[in-house]
Formats: sequence, C-alpha cells, structure tokens
Amino acid sequence: MVEIRLRNSRSRSVETLRPLDPAQGVRMYLCGPTVYDRAHLGNARPSIMFDVLYRLLRHVSPGNGWAPPVYVRNFTDVDDKINARAAETGRSIGEITEETIGWYRDDMAALGCLPPDHEPRATGYIAEMIAMIEGLIADGHAYPAEGHVLFRVRSFAAYGALSGRSVDDMIAGARVEVAPFKEDPMDFVLWKPSSGDLPGWDSPWGRGRPGWHIECSAMSKALLGETFDIHGGGNDLLFPHHENEIAQSCCANHTEQMAQIWLHNEMLLVEGKKMSKSLGNFFTVRDLLDQGVPGEVIRFVFLSTHYSKPMDWTEKKREEAEKVLRKWRDIVSGVEAAAAPADGVLEAIADDLNTAGAIAVLHSLVQDPARLKASALLLGLLEDGMGDWSVARIDAADLVPHRQRFEEARALAKQTKDFTEVDALKSALTAAGVEVRMSKEGVELIPGPGFDPAKLEGL
Ligand SMILES: [Zn+2]
Repeated sequence: MVEIRLRNSRSRSVETLRPLDPAQGVRMYLCGPTVYDRAHLGNARPSIMFDVLYRLLRHVSPGNGWAPPVYVRNFTDVDDKINARAAETGRSIGEITEETIGWYRDDMAALGCLPPDHEPRATGYIAEMIAMIEGLIADGHAYPAEGHVLFRVRSFAAYGALSGRSVDDMIAGARVEVAPFKEDPMDFVLWKPSSGDLPGWDSPWGRGRPGWHIECSAMSKALLGETFDIHGGGNDLLFPHHENEIAQSCCANHTEQMAQIWLHNEMLLVEGKKMSKSLGNFFTVRDLLDQGVPGEVIRFVFLSTHYSKPMDWTEKKREEAEKVLRKWRDIVSGVEAAAAPADGVLEAIADDLNTAGAIAVLHSLVQDPARLKASALLLGLLEDGMGDWSVARIDAADLVPHRQRFEEARALAKQTKDFTEVDALKSALTAAGVEVRMSKEGVELIPGPGFDPAKLEGL
C-alpha cells in the first residue's frame, strides 16, 4: 500500500488520499482551457501537475486495491472571449474552438502529458446545465431576472469556505459586476441571454448560453458523479471559479462536498517577473517548442519546482535542464527500464507531488541506468516517444573529424595568413550549436544546448 498525501486547499493541510469509492478508482477533475488561443506557458503548469498525479495513481492503484484513476479535463468552448475572437477575425466559432483544441492537445502531448480519460466540451453538456439550473431555482438557490439566471450566494452558508473569506470581505475586495437585476452584488451568472448573432440554446429563460462556472459543475457531475476525489487548477481559479462551482454543485446535488481534495498550483514567473504582454515576456508553449526547446526540457523545468511555489522560468534553468536530460538520455540509451522505480522517487512523488525531491533522487541513480529509466518514466521523463529531440544527442565522436579539420585549416591559415576557411568553418559550427574554443593547446569543440548534428552534415 502506497500512501499518497496531498495538500488540500480546503483544509489548508496535507491529507492522506482515501478514495471515496476504491472500486471506481480515484476520480479527478482539472479545469481545462477556454479555447480561443494558444496555451501560454503558465497554462501548462496545472496540466503537468495533474499528469504527475495521474501517472502516480496509475502506478499505485493496482497495488492499493483501487480501480484505475479517472481523469477529466474539460474544454470551455462557449465563452465571451471566443465570441470576441470570432468577431475580430471573421472566422466561425466552431473553426476557432476546433483549431484551438487541436493545438492544446498537441502542445500538452509535446510536454509529455497523457491524454485524460475524458475531455468533455461544455457545448456537449448544455442540457445537463439547464437541468441543474432548474433544480437550483426550484430550491431557492437561484432566480431568473431579465433573461439571466443568477445564483443566490447568500443562500449557501458555506460560501467562501474554500478560499477562507466571508461574503462581506469578498464584496469589499472583489471586482464584482454590479447589475441592476442582481439581488446582491455577489450573485453570479448561471445563464445569460444571447442575441441572434451569438451562440445560444433554447431554455426556460429564453435563448441564451451558460455562465462559465456552471459548465464545470455539470460536466464533473456527468462524468465523475456528484462527489468525487480531487478537483484542481491554478490558484487563480480558487476564487471565484471554484468557490462558485462548490456552491452550485453542493446546492444542486444536496451534498456536503463537491470534491474531497482541492489542489491548486502557484503561478508562473519569467526571469523573476510576472508574465505579461505589456512586459514583453509573454510566450506560449508553442513559441518555446518552435524555438527548438524540447517539450521534455520544459517539463523538467516545471517539475524542478514544487507546484505550491511560484515557478520561475529562466533561460539558465532551461539550459541546465537540457544538459541533465541529454546526460540521462545518453546513460539510458538502449537500456530497458527496470520493473519498478526507485523507492525514493515513488516516496517523493507520493509525498504531495514532491517532484523536485524526486528529481534529486534521479541524480543519484546515474550508476543504475535501468532504475533511472523506470524512475524517470514515473515523472513522464525519458519517455521513448519524447526522445526524438535527443536524436541530436551529443556524441563527442561526431565532432572529432570536425575538430581535426578545423585544426588543419587553422595551422594552414597561420602560415598563409588567409583565415577565410577558418572563419567559414567556425560560423558553420556555431550555427550548428557548437561552441568553438581556440587556445595555444589546440581547438575544443563544445556542443551547446541547441546542438544539431544534422547541420554538420554538409560540412
Ligand atoms: Zn472549472
């Protein structure tokens, strides 16, 4: 029996995971992206965090006597941001959401994230949302007003328990949308009217579309049940999104809790600063992949910081990660993974997903390649399928003929004083990601992080 401990945002303490129903496996829900644009680097963090948890659960469930885990990550494919993008570009909403969902899946796969068991789209669950809203109205937890339906926050005494705030504090601090048809400024939208040019569905309150929060309540209920084991996302979702999900689900389902454990990851920084378009340090996962940064390197950098701490993406960390992974890939090349990961790695991950601790143990396994591979796989690293980038694996032998040729050209140039060929060779090597160091002792060729042997072929 492997005990898994997770920090529950709701209790603000680390708790042992005990599945509500071991026969159903651990059921987990991650709030997925609103699909109108590429995922930025920060969006990758919750997916990587949940992927590590999913891999851990798949590994330990059989031995723990639990059914395999069930992992749901949704797509929000109806949202005002999507409508705005369609209006801006003149493209159809369906085209935009379809394309963005494809991008998201490709990007997460490049980061080594396994596909979840279910990837529901909000537009596939409109009937369930309408049914849930009708129930909330019948019980006095919601009310229709001017084509909208609003959730009556003060009807749910536990509102604010997750984020630890009182309703009055929230009103004082939050940017709540004031609207004349709201009974209380904190009440939030479950349903809103759609004009003819916007996506809409017929409902008892007229043609309209759902609010964002109700989508997750309806999809998680349909796929995981009224109460399930783990729910999570970035800590920017804690309030109001998750607070609202709990209010809707508990009131509609007459349950004490929506999920047992709430997991939230901290935010991302870039070189110590918050990533923002105005600071010019905003980039997407795809931007990095297109720059030749392997997805596995991005994943490694994320795993080096515990999910509950801010993660600082730096160029230095990227370089370090690439060096380590190249070394490990070299060590495990052609090696079959051991039957089981190292105990220390499993223990670290089971201890509130201490991925940084697990990586520290991996460093100690370089003398045992089979164990290193099995242990890294548990973190989603050193997967064969992610290994294409290391086709460019540094083989110092590849560079030997180039060094000899460079030394000959240099010796000749010293006599003729014509350095044309030396310069040409040097720039070709640099372009292939090789650092050229010249000294009295001779020439050293050092493959850098972007080393690409294919670029040396024509030399
Ligand atoms: Zn959600």
